[in-house]
Amino acid sequence: MDETKILLSEKDMPKAWYNINADMPVPPQPVLHPGTMEPVTPDFLAVLFPMNLILQEVSTERWIEIPEPVRDIYRLWRPTPMYRARRLEKALDTPAHIYYKYEGASPVGSHKPNTAVAQAFFNKEAGTKALTTETGAGQWGSALSMACNFFDIDLEVYMVKVSYFQKPYRRIIMENFGAHVFASPTDHTNYGRSVLAQNPESPGSLGIAISEAVEVAATSNGTKKYSLGSVLGHVLMHQTIIGLESLQQMEIAGEYPDMVIGCAGGGSNFAGFTYPFLWKKFTEGKNVRVIAAEPASCPSITRGRYAFDYGDTAAMAPIVKMHTLGHTFVPPGIHAGGLRYHGMAPSVSALVDHGDIEGRAIPQTAAFEAAVQFARAEGIIPAPETAHAIRVAIDEALKCKASGEKKVIAFNLSGHGHFDMMAYEAYLHGKLEDYEYPQAAIEEAMTHLPQVAM
Ligand SMILES: *Cc1c(COP(=O)(O)O)cnc(C)c1O
Repeated sequence: MDETKILLSEKDMPKAWYNINADMPVPPQPVLHPGTMEPVTPDFLAVLFPMNLILQEVSTERWIEIPEPVRDIYRLWRPTPMYRARRLEKALDTPAHIYYKYEGASPVGSHKPNTAVAQAFFNKEAGTKALTTETGAGQWGSALSMACNFFDIDLEVYMVKVSYFQKPYRRIIMENFGAHVFASPTDHTNYGRSVLAQNPESPGSLGIAISEAVEVAATSNGTKKYSLGSVLGHVLMHQTIIGLESLQQMEIAGEYPDMVIGCAGGGSNFAGFTYPFLWKKFTEGKNVRVIAAEPASCPSITRGRYAFDYGDTAAMAPIVKMHTLGHTFVPPGIHAGGLRYHGMAPSVSALVDHGDIEGRAIPQTAAFEAAVQFARAEGIIPAPETAHAIRVAIDEALKCKASGEKKVIAFNLSGHGHFDMMAYEAYLHGKLEDYEYPQAAIEEAMTHLPQVAM
């Protein structure tokens, strides 16, 4: 098998998503109400999410059917190609075989439409007329804008103000799809007004934008629902189409990976790529190392605590058990904006705790160095988030070079970096700095964790 691209035909596209709840080696932890700290009821979640998605969140069925209208839209770019990185292997002079799944092939350039299209469909089915969401640099906002456009749902996007002005291209993509994009903090919400009263020049943050998007949905008398692009169980599940296609593609390649790697912000592309391989491990005993690459500046898996914490900064979102740097964590301004969340998806955290997943913290200059090396070999300029996974893949391939082992390494290329050129410019001109998140700041944040009697 000496092909470079391993392609599936549309008829090979998976017909169901994989739900890891069916195979989790540890029992699920409760989701707690942020006020009472008691387990939440479905009606609490129903203010924000349609019931069909809440049922997916708690389902323990192993397979959840992908509805035909979702498959129909997926066919615009799926199945995505799997590549054998032959030119990178050569550049590294490694005996390892390196494979990557290319999710940058979607219309907006990342894995995020896999869940955006599904969430828009299930909202449409439940009668939702309008959605709200937040976006940082705009990856998630552009995916959901495209999806809402396809299903004729109105969308309000609260975009972090500094990105709204500094990164206009993704905003314009969203507007092309008909979304209403606002620079957060806005004066539409109580929370936004309170932030502006304290600091009229506030540049915004993802935490503030989440709180605004949630407030708008929660106070809409049921006319608007809220949509989140990562962290939640149903979001991770929608992404498993990535790993399910990859299983088929590795079979065509005639190899099985020794290790699978993804970058982890909230955990969705990582879980989407790796959980189907964990399914094979849990049900067929096929061993595989599973590595989550995270920024050294936002190291929730490698340095956070596995504890109950609020999902958001304003302490209004449910409390879940996860690896967390504390909800009061203030992310430093690194260029991989999509990886700057204080916590990690609860199922990823539980599997780290159980020993099925390992974390690896990567400094940003090391990530960019790997990204440029990858681009010069393979031609694709990856998103800065993805660059963290590429660093791990290259490091593992170099270990194989040293030991002479011929391991099979597979990683998820979660998105292209075409709208991240200012970050690349900073790297190429030696202006990027590394930042290790200080231990004292982590310890201070731990003192603000909710006091949960569990
Ligand atoms: C948003 C994003 C991420 C991080 O989000 P996850 O939910 O952890 O996958 C990673 N890569 C790209 C390209 C993104 O757009």
